[in-house]
Amino acid sequence: MMEAFIGIGANLGDARANALDAVERLRRVPGLSVTAVSSLYRTAPIDSSGDDYINAVARIDTTLAAPALLEALFAIEQQHGRERPYRNAPRTLDLDLLLYGDQTIDNPALTVPHPRLTQRAFVLVPLLEIAPDVVVPGLGAASSFAAGVAGQRIDKVN
Ligand code: AMP
Repeated sequence: MMEAFIGIGANLGDARANALDAVERLRRVPGLSVTAVSSLYRTAPIDSSGDDYINAVARIDTTLAAPALLEALFAIEQQHGRERPYRNAPRTLDLDLLLYGDQTIDNPALTVPHPRLTQRAFVLVPLLEIAPDVVVPGLGAASSFAAGVAGQRIDKVN
């Protein structure tokens, strides 16, 4: 059994409903249980266009190997009809594998820890809400990066 963290982002349609639905769909994935979900947060888009994002982070326990977990995330994104007309286009739902236990993975399809984890308030703030002591493999305590994202606007919405 592996503990992992999933980043959830949505900014099209009813973003709040889409983020909450993503959590419900995660709960139904075989070999995976959701053990914590952060609050929802509203953040301004970075390197992207459109409305504000709704972001959250879920903690899971899973027996799935990392590639199978990523496939499960893609399947949920596709159930939300995500299209990718261009890089960083606005999206109905974006699911990222942030951390997979203490593993580091670096191949063309999958980079873990997720490279944005330590740089983006929309990942770091919800992650620290549910896992204040979590360690980013190779980089140290996630909390040590909080000051670096303190200038990014992020508001709790629930
Ligand atoms: P994005 O459009 O930002 O969701 O990026 C999706 C692409 O990033 C896919 O081709 C994934 O294979 C790749 N990718 C690499 N590492 C990760 C990760 N940790 N979580 C999710 N997608 C990843």
